[in-house]
Amino acid sequence: MNESPESPEALGEVVEDLRRHLLWQEESGGRALLVDSAKLAAERSASLRSMLPPRGAAPAKAPPAEPAPAPPPVPRAEVPRAAAPERPAALAPRPASPPVAASGNGLLLDVPQKAPPYPGALPGVVDGERPTLDEIRRTLGDCQRCKLCTGRKNIVFGVGNPRADLVFVGEGPGENEDLKGIPFVGAAGDLLTKMIQAMGFSRDDVYICNVVKCRPPGNRNPEPDEIASCEPFLRSQLLAIQPKVIVALGKFAAQTLLRDSTPITRLRGQWREYQGVKLMPTFHPAYLLRSPAEKRKAWEDLQQVMKIFGKQGGART
Ligand code: SF4
Repeated sequence: MNESPESPEALGEVVEDLRRHLLWQEESGGRALLVDSAKLAAERSASLRSMLPPRGAAPAKAPPAEPAPAPPPVPRAEVPRAAAPERPAALAPRPASPPVAASGNGLLLDVPQKAPPYPGALPGVVDGERPTLDEIRRTLGDCQRCKLCTGRKNIVFGVGNPRADLVFVGEGPGENEDLKGIPFVGAAGDLLTKMIQAMGFSRDDVYICNVVKCRPPGNRNPEPDEIASCEPFLRSQLLAIQPKVIVALGKFAAQTLLRDSTPITRLRGQWREYQGVKLMPTFHPAYLLRSPAEKRKAWEDLQQVMKIFGKQGGART
């Protein structure tokens, strides 16, 4: 059953309390929910009623003959802010969200801060300017952008003349390369060195690098996500060097740079273009070690490259 306050003083206090609360609402721009105001008033009224003597009890003093005068208006500056209820939770500031980025499949995933995206630019490239290899290497840092970082001993960035006219791009480091941090230093590297010399160059004349800079475990093929993580650095390297000719060694180098999934057996020996630079796809030296009969085709491909540089060439390897 609803009860009414029986004391005029108590009623006056309720009215005053409601008036102050409405003033606070007005000052807060109506942000307080009206339902909260009604609830607050009801709670306060109930609180006041509990302080009154029970019905039938003798009043503490006789009621006045005239209604009590309305309390004087309270200046706005005197409205006690502390009396205002807490700001509704729905208006409280939201906690900061952790950084997220969109994955390739459209899901939002937490992304470590040390794996920055490359919005419209290649790593190490600032304002579209030609970078240096040192800048790109610094940007690569202690790279952990793909899972190949877990098994590597060294990042194999590249080696040779930073202003080379001729660049050889392989697939990825093998065991020896991983140990030394230098590309093409194992058996396949020895064969590549002979091929370069047969073309009339030395290793110091050219630049040699790979699509991925860390060794795939067990010398397996690099996986698409690993290539996607690492190839921006290869593209930055080529932008830094600006060679006249690129020789893509094997299917991963050729298909990655050309964005073409044609088998290397059909790509090889045909001039292509990468960003305005002549590109010759040919077999990887490791494949030639396994299939020596294919060396003749690789030599034909390299002879086409030699013609660009006006080289007559030495002995076939
Ligand atoms: S392969 Fe490339 S992207 Fe992956 S960890 Fe090594 S350097 Fe980084």
